[in-house]
Amino acid sequence: MNIAIAGAGLVGRVLALNLLQSTEHTITFFDKDSKEGVHAAGFTAAGMLAPYAELETAESIIFELGHRSIALWPSLLKQIGLFDGYQQKGTVITAHPQDFGELEHFIGMLKRKIGEAETIRPLDNEAIKRLEPDLFSHRRGFFIPDEGVVDAQRFMAFSVTYFDRMPNVTFREYTPVKRLSPYTVHLNDGTEERFDWVFDTRGLGAKEYFKELRGVRGEVIWVEANDIDITRPTRLMHPRYKLYLVPRGNGCEGIDLEYCKDCKLSQTKGYKRYLIGATEIESEDLSPISVRSSMELLSALYTLHPSFGEARVVNTETNCRPAFKDNLPRIETQEGITRINGLYRHGYLLAPAIVEKALEEMASLQTS
Ligand SMILES: Cc1cc2nc3c(=O)[nH]c(=O)nc-3n(C[C@H](O)[C@H](O)[C@H](O)COP(=O)(O)OP(=O)(O)OC[C@H]3O[C@@H](n4cnc5c(N)ncnc54)[C@H](O)[C@@H]3O)c2cc1C
Repeated sequence: MNIAIAGAGLVGRVLALNLLQSTEHTITFFDKDSKEGVHAAGFTAAGMLAPYAELETAESIIFELGHRSIALWPSLLKQIGLFDGYQQKGTVITAHPQDFGELEHFIGMLKRKIGEAETIRPLDNEAIKRLEPDLFSHRRGFFIPDEGVVDAQRFMAFSVTYFDRMPNVTFREYTPVKRLSPYTVHLNDGTEERFDWVFDTRGLGAKEYFKELRGVRGEVIWVEANDIDITRPTRLMHPRYKLYLVPRGNGCEGIDLEYCKDCKLSQTKGYKRYLIGATEIESEDLSPISVRSSMELLSALYTLHPSFGEARVVNTETNCRPAFKDNLPRIETQEGITRINGLYRHGYLLAPAIVEKALEEMASLQTS
């Protein structure tokens, strides 16, 4: 099939990787930005695959799809040659003594929502130190064993290199799509192009079709520290500002460049890098991180380990998560077109499973 994918962000890329597993397809990406995708929400994301920790605000369907995605991510990353961009070592959840009630409430709620949450283990100080020695000052916490994380920025970068090598993939960057209809891409310059099937994976850019789509602003901060080594995604429960810290190791170390072409950041040799996030604000404002958000995230970080006081802030990013009113993902399929959207704060957690479902829907329409 000759396939068009409008929107080469997270979902568009995962979709193309699936389609390329069958060599009969030719794929044309259309994206309003560059093929590196640095303005896509998929580039800003922490990449956490946290079906349990997300259950606080999510439905159990997110849990089920999340588990399926966790099973699918390793082979997708292998397909693009990203062998060290995936980790499944579980999540640590901790809190300060005054917030232990909050922590207990959170875990209790998870256990009431799904039976599988029985695998979540309580941690005392000794157990925390065995798992993450640098969290030695924390007296209580919980460990969620099955959760993982994708190195989102390197996924985006490695996928470009992979698509560039594929003779049956064309990347039309800086080519905004005005609208889509069955079998047809309508471009801003008034021209139309016909395909055997069209996919709409424009995230927030699909508002012209999904009127109720909204953006939920998220801000993240990247820091580098040379004397703290936390190896697992770690969440700090707090009644007002919840923090997560996602270690990115020294993924760029060994690359003899001041500026890493994969993650677009400079790298200080010997420093560990962490992504700190994320705010959740009902706004489509893409302006830089606010002072309030910076103070909240960084002061929570400082309480996780005081040596973070000497960490260096190397980057901040703002983006918007595409979401519907119910914060659930949506697939819409009719002859000649499939639309996938609304992955909200669960894009990495859901994309492989949602794409799998979308392709099943497309196949069943074609055979009926
Ligand atoms: C701060 C933050 C942290 C996050 N952390 C996580 C996390 O830890 N785990 C998790 O699972 N999810 C996380 N997410 C959510 C995840 O990033 C999104 O759900 C996901 O990126 C949505 O994918 P998408 O492909 O629909 O949209 P995007 O990734 O935004 O891609 C949309 C693409 O469409 C293109 N486009 C838009 N309009 C047009 C047009 N008219 N013509 C052509 N191209 C167009 C854009 O340029 C872009 O490349 C996070 C998001 C944010 C903002």
